[in-house]
Amino acid sequence: MLDLAIIGGGPAGLTAGLYATRGGLKNVVMYEMGLPGGQITQSSEIENYPGFEKVLTGMELMEPWPKQCMRFGLKHELAEVKNVSKMDENFQVTLANGDKVLAKNIIVCTGSTPKRAGIKGEDEFYGKGVSNCATCDGFFYKDKEVSVLGGGDTALEEALYLANICKKVYLIHRRDSFRASPHTVKRVMENDKIELVLNSTVKEIYGDESGVNGSIVVDKDGNERDIKAPGFFIFVGMNVNNGVLKQEDGSFLCKVNEWGEVIVDLKMRTDVEGLFAAGDIRIEAPKQVVCAAGDGAVAALSVIERENH
Ligand code: FAD
Ligand code: NAP
Repeated sequence: MLDLAIIGGGPAGLTAGLYATRGGLKNVVMYEMGLPGGQITQSSEIENYPGFEKVLTGMELMEPWPKQCMRFGLKHELAEVKNVSKMDENFQVTLANGDKVLAKNIIVCTGSTPKRAGIKGEDEFYGKGVSNCATCDGFFYKDKEVSVLGGGDTALEEALYLANICKKVYLIHRRDSFRASPHTVKRVMENDKIELVLNSTVKEIYGDESGVNGSIVVDKDGNERDIKAPGFFIFVGMNVNNGVLKQEDGSFLCKVNEWGEVIVDLKMRTDVEGLFAAGDIRIEAPKQVVCAAGDGAVAALSVIERENH
């Protein structure tokens, strides 16, 4: 029986493991289906993780984490978790290979994944001008022009964020009405720095070795427009990686909101005793490394508190 099973080895999972083992928990296993480090390892430039003056790649940032976080006894099992279910007072973790493990506590740290738009050039220039994160990459386009794709709350909120930093924001949306809340739409409409490019789709994002040079946008009448902005931000929805919480009958093991994000309190507790969630998977997650790591620490301290009572 494990004292704690951590699902996911990104910033949240690794930090949870560090705090749990350093705080005295003995049998702690972190299940990570890839190399520990999480989605940030895909990023080429990080300049908002405190403590480093130099701009780092995601790999450089995360490289020392596993060593440090496993120094106090955290074990990493290279395995995909299929499902977590309740087994009396405890939890059963079922791995993709069929193995089953019992655990007294679970911290789910499986993160979230931005949806791709499926545009020509999107994959080629991902991390070289194409981004899913304005907080992370907006500053690289200070006083420059950027394009934003999408018509939901995320796209419009991020367009407003980028308008504070950038010279101009082209907000490209495939329809002429938005999904975003009316208040956010009003703020976008009133912002002089945001140009709406409506009823339009993106045919191609183009560039060279230095990165994105612009994008070809087509309106509904077939007219093409070349927008020469070096930053292209895609916000066409997120997939929350909550599959491990799905039960056989299709329900979730704990409460999730309408977007599938796990509902937690300030101690990262779900509504199920002994089940915690941390990082990008939780409600209201700012989706930043520093926040995910903080969540992981909070969740582990909550597990220790529970075990001590
Ligand atoms: P993740 O990092 O997503 O880690 C989840 C882990 O769980 C993954 O390693 C995954 O393999 C594993 N996993 C998922 N499902 C399973 C399963 N069933 N079984 C086993 N393992 C599983 N943040 C910043 O602060 N600054 C930046 O500059 C920045 N830039 C970014 C650039 C890019 C390109 C991307 C994609 C993100 C960026 N972010 C940035 C956001 C940051 O990466 C995330 O907020 C952070 O990684 C979230 O951490 P997490 O631990 O919650 O989840
Ligand atoms: P979303 O609401 O699903 O919006 C995605 C947007 O991207 C839509 O406008 C959609 O167009 C567009 N889109 C999807 N696929 C596309 C493609 N392949 N090419 C071009 N455009 C594409 O996603 P989200 O904005 O990330 O929001 C997710 C959920 O979180 C929403 O329910 C949202 O309300 C919520 N959220 C809330 C807040 C808040 O309350 N402050 C903040 C952020 C997010 P169509 O409109 O034509 O479908």
